[in-house]
Amino acid sequence: MIKKYYLLSPGPTPVPENVLAAAAEPIIHHRTPEFSKIFMDTTEGLKTVFGTKEDVFILTSSGTGAMEAAVVNLCSPGDKVITINGGKFGERWGNICKAYGVQNREIVLEWGKDFSKEALAAELEAHPGTKVVFCQLSETSTGAIFDIRGYGEVVSRTDAVFVVDGISGSGATPCPMDEWKVDVLLSGSQKSFMIPPGLAYIALGPKAWKLVDTAKCPRFYFDAKKAKKNLADKTTPWTPAISLIIQQKKALDIILAMGLEKLYAHHRLLGDATRAGVKALGLELLAERPGDILTAVKTPAGLEGGKIVKTMQGKYMAYIAGAQDPHKGKFFRIAHLGYMGGFDIITALTALEMTLADLGHAFEAGASVKAAEPILRGSWQ
Ligand SMILES: *Cc1c(COP(=O)(O)O)cnc(C)c1O
Repeated sequence: MIKKYYLLSPGPTPVPENVLAAAAEPIIHHRTPEFSKIFMDTTEGLKTVFGTKEDVFILTSSGTGAMEAAVVNLCSPGDKVITINGGKFGERWGNICKAYGVQNREIVLEWGKDFSKEALAAELEAHPGTKVVFCQLSETSTGAIFDIRGYGEVVSRTDAVFVVDGISGSGATPCPMDEWKVDVLLSGSQKSFMIPPGLAYIALGPKAWKLVDTAKCPRFYFDAKKAKKNLADKTTPWTPAISLIIQQKKALDIILAMGLEKLYAHHRLLGDATRAGVKALGLELLAERPGDILTAVKTPAGLEGGKIVKTMQGKYMAYIAGAQDPHKGKFFRIAHLGYMGGFDIITALTALEMTLADLGHAFEAGASVKAAEPILRGSWQ
């Protein structure tokens, strides 16, 4: 076979061809009216996806940079915060807090388990003086999504600031920042925003800006005040990743031409088809509340998850993702975020079936595609 590469992972994700080509355009200088126009159009597009009137700052870093920016701009060493740890990325909130001496009360969930807004309300009541609540919209390590609207209601009744890591979720599933009372929303470029890795986005609401004034964590590169001052001049404090911003503008043109409602419906459809496909093989989902961003599937008894991923990647070049530590091998993840179409789901399911057959697992051949196809065909627009 010709070695054809199928990127089916929850980040990085495939990039549309015209967006890829934009990276080859000549570099223009960033302190020019020409670039300022592209930069401001891009921040406007990001505001629409974020569902906010607030400024969205474009940071040159991977998504974790925006997570760190949230911590250092809002917190002081010794502050009490709550982090919801439902997987690898929720755990990262805790690790960043520790690095800065912020006292996080970590709510550790079993991977894939949900956490209710009532439970969050009880935590906040039991721990008065909580300055910030940090969580994920989509916990990409498990495929679970959380009740951000519900959490927003609960946290807005307290003095705490509500921070949501929307990396992977934002742009694939609804999370209107202002309407859902999210005080800080952040995201990254290589998941649902359809461009390569390298940019992160963050927006802060009025309640968050009040904390920025008092926060004492050391900060320089990610200082939100510097970003705000420079954005007023239509620029960034530091040299931005010019080509990536040009690419993001082009990808936002695609996203906004389609419209957010249609984009979310598209991802819902891909999620429905994927879930139906794997269930038809007798496989189980990991997440109690699965999102439409990716689907984490439990490894069937008698098989090794690592072998499934290795075979899919090594033999079929279908790059799904495995499970991260400490659950390596126990499940695998099929992505349907970003620039993915209906046939990408068929590719993933077929590659999965061929892999299961290679590994000697018994199932009804063709069942996954048979289940997914009518779902995709019925709503294909
Ligand atoms: C990918 C991801 C991150 C980390 O982003 P990097 O770009 O790898 O720094 C953080 N949170 C979530 C939910 C993610 O999906």
